[in-house]
Amino acid sequence: MKFVYDFTEGNKDLKDLLGGKGANLAEMTNLGLPVPPGFTITTEACKVYLDSGEEPAALRDEVSAHLDALEARMGKKLGQADNPLLVSVRSGAKFSMPGMMDTVLNIGLSDKSVQGLAKQAGDERFAWDSYRRLIQMFGKTVLGVDGELFEDALEAAKAAKKVTVDTELEAADLKKLVTKFKKIVKTEAGRDFPQDPREQMDLAIHAVFDSWNTDRAKLYRRQERIPHDLGTAVNVCSMVFGNLGPDSGTGVAFTRDPASGHQGVYGDYLQNAQGEDVVAGIRNTVPLAELERIDKKSYDQLMQIMETLENHYKDLCDIEFTIERGQLWMLQTRVGKRTAGAAFRIATQLVDQGLIDEAEALTRVNGAQLAQLMFPRFDESAKVEQVGRGIAASPGAAVGKAVFDSYTAVKWSRSGEKVILIRRETNPDDLDGMIAAEGILTSRGGKTSHAAVVARGMGKTCVCGAEELEVDTKRRRMTVPGGHVVEEGDVVSIDGSTGKVYLGEVPVVPSPVVEYFEGRMHAGAEDADELVEAVHRIMAFADRKRRLRVRANADNAEDALRARRFGAQGIGLCRTEHMFLGDRRELVERLILADTDAEREESLKQLLPLQKQDFVQLFESMDGLPVTVRLLDPPLHEFLPDITELSVRVALAESRQEPHENELRLLQAVHRLHEQNPMLGLRGVRLGLVIPGLFTMQVRAIAEAAAERKAAKGDPRAEIMIPLVGTVQELEIVREEADQVIAEVEAASGTQLKLSIGTMIELPRAALTAGQIAEAAQFFSFGTNDLTQTVWGFSRDDVEASFFTAYLEKGIFGVSPFETIDKDGVGSLVKLAAKAGRETRPDLKLGVCGEHGGDPESVHFFHEVGLDYVSCSPFRIPVARLEAGRAAV
Ligand code: ADP
Ligand code: MG
Ligand code: MG
Repeated sequence: MKFVYDFTEGNKDLKDLLGGKGANLAEMTNLGLPVPPGFTITTEACKVYLDSGEEPAALRDEVSAHLDALEARMGKKLGQADNPLLVSVRSGAKFSMPGMMDTVLNIGLSDKSVQGLAKQAGDERFAWDSYRRLIQMFGKTVLGVDGELFEDALEAAKAAKKVTVDTELEAADLKKLVTKFKKIVKTEAGRDFPQDPREQMDLAIHAVFDSWNTDRAKLYRRQERIPHDLGTAVNVCSMVFGNLGPDSGTGVAFTRDPASGHQGVYGDYLQNAQGEDVVAGIRNTVPLAELERIDKKSYDQLMQIMETLENHYKDLCDIEFTIERGQLWMLQTRVGKRTAGAAFRIATQLVDQGLIDEAEALTRVNGAQLAQLMFPRFDESAKVEQVGRGIAASPGAAVGKAVFDSYTAVKWSRSGEKVILIRRETNPDDLDGMIAAEGILTSRGGKTSHAAVVARGMGKTCVCGAEELEVDTKRRRMTVPGGHVVEEGDVVSIDGSTGKVYLGEVPVVPSPVVEYFEGRMHAGAEDADELVEAVHRIMAFADRKRRLRVRANADNAEDALRARRFGAQGIGLCRTEHMFLGDRRELVERLILADTDAEREESLKQLLPLQKQDFVQLFESMDGLPVTVRLLDPPLHEFLPDITELSVRVALAESRQEPHENELRLLQAVHRLHEQNPMLGLRGVRLGLVIPGLFTMQVRAIAEAAAERKAAKGDPRAEIMIPLVGTVQELEIVREEADQVIAEVEAASGTQLKLSIGTMIELPRAALTAGQIAEAAQFFSFGTNDLTQTVWGFSRDDVEASFFTAYLEKGIFGVSPFETIDKDGVGSLVKLAAKAGRETRPDLKLGVCGEHGGDPESVHFFHEVGLDYVSCSPFRIPVARLEAGRAAV
């Protein structure tokens, strides 16, 4: 096996073997761009090293051979005393990973060769600056010395000289600093800084290998589901120097604006600097456009190269470059990150430029980006006072009065105030406050902190880990940088899409993308912006491509109409329980408490016309499209008064010796029917079987509503769905009664209603016996919320606030299984049931109506297992359409 590739030997498609950086350095080399020569040690070598604790036997010789070749080419030897070749050792895995080792520059410098470098360059200051950088980087990343010790020493040197920037230190100062740095290494690492250049290089290579397995790297991989066995490549690259004076420098650039997608000159440049100085912010950079004035030749060449790269990668690229005494060198490129809006714009721009086709454009955007574009946002033209920035944990724009504890959050929100709950970090006791608040702001914790996880689960705006904010919950205040104090009750605004925190009320505007979906803004119209045009076009690409249909979960005509505007092709889940609330509660109470058949029949009779009216409206709003109506599902206590409230009422009445027979009866029923989460008691089909007439009343309401719509020349397409079925017998009994009722309504109205009857698959037993159940079902709709609860054996309400954050932190889940379907567990049941169901009944219609229907990754899974449609909340429909299109590419 070959373990080392010269930059001339690789290409961009070899990321598995050469890592992202190595593959792209090779690609640029082969494009004829000016890349300093070098070679890449493969991920295979890393894997052998990590598995066995030793380098593969052949590696040392191969590295030597490549180093020899490099030395011959450059006409100098690594660390050679009078004319040293220097190299950088750079990590580079397939995916860039925080927590992995950084790069070490200037390898090859020693007490001897630093003199040689000074002579070679004719610049003593430069040589000592390079040497101190080497000891600093090597000490920190290879020998594990606390980097602050070096930084403090550097600060002290500057202070002693009364200068503010490092370029003002002279050779003599830097020489002293080197001595100091070497002492720090000796004390902290217990060894001398190695003087042998090859030893420096080998140690750095091993350190890169080892960094694959740091705790932070491992954790990151678990969370991002990056396999642990990929390993990292190592790039050895001959040094070029941006710190050789004002005609040298280093910079970063984008081939187009990563915020807007516009073509132009975007980047930063820093004269007389090396490596990460640009991003480290140690001195002020200048906009890239100024390079034209500083060094026109290099600037023109850079513009040329950026065009070459963009045409070659057919995408936005970001690059790192260095200019050494007027000579331009390319040090890195990759397809660059971009904002959500820019992703849509760039994808359509590239289609227009003829660089990519529609299908390819779909791979350049994703549903998460679209979802982000649909949140209301702060008005960018408003005057704002930003006071901090944390992690954008859950998107949205929230404004409210600052409160520092849950109790106040609940109290104030009850009296109609909008509040932002501010905590250092949240815990399960904060749940009520989080529910009451418009948004949540914490000063500690990352993307998997309690606040972040719970807020995302609730769809609530959250900024977490805003570390500059000092939250003092005891004194109910927060101090922001600059010393301003935010007291309880002061208004703050937080942006969960950017992580920005503002003082005062920032005005919120609806997203133009939603305005467009709502039909209030038309693509092509004058007021539609570029973003809307781009979204419009990408949605058209997706709709042309996708096989999965997209329906909405909607319970009333208003939601149904919005869903239609958003592109829904029917309703996949209409819950009927809300039709039992409000004014109708009393009727339902009577139904539940009925002692005699007559009492029960009377309340059912009164409910029937009300239900029917609901359905008439719904069928009208979805005319011509399928509407799946789920018969009553939740446990009955949800329709009865709250248990505590009622107990108080009874006790009061008792003490006042007032009559309270009805309350008492109600209380007994509440006690009997009360269920704890996950509420696996008297629910779903079980209700239909034990409360005579309940389901048939609902079926009659549906059938009569359909008949009425037909009479009005409408095209109702109702599908009756039975929830929580575990065995085919349950379904058969309910079906028989339903068929009977439908036949009666058809006879009475003289029309064929073509109603279909199907079931939800939301219990493991149903999935396992799907072949039998399909005998009695014309369709299946996977209820993946309940299926997830029952397959995992945990109830959603109890877990998200308690142990999920621990599971996420430990990497047991990358993401909550309620957010993205657990393919291995819940997903295999879906697959199995789909297959068995279709074996029994080849034309069985298959859909999914859990919240997973609007989750990008889950949509891809449902496409793959061959479902016919997904159903999700109206707001998620565009996301589902887009992802269904992407899944089909
Ligand atoms: P990262 O992955 O953190 O970007 P890099 O390997 O790209 O790490 O290196 C860090 C910095 O050092 C970058 O600014 C890069 O351009 C610079 N650098 C790396 N190798 C060399 C080299 N051979 N000559 C000059 N600068 C280099
Ligand atoms: Mg870095
Ligand atoms: Mg880099």
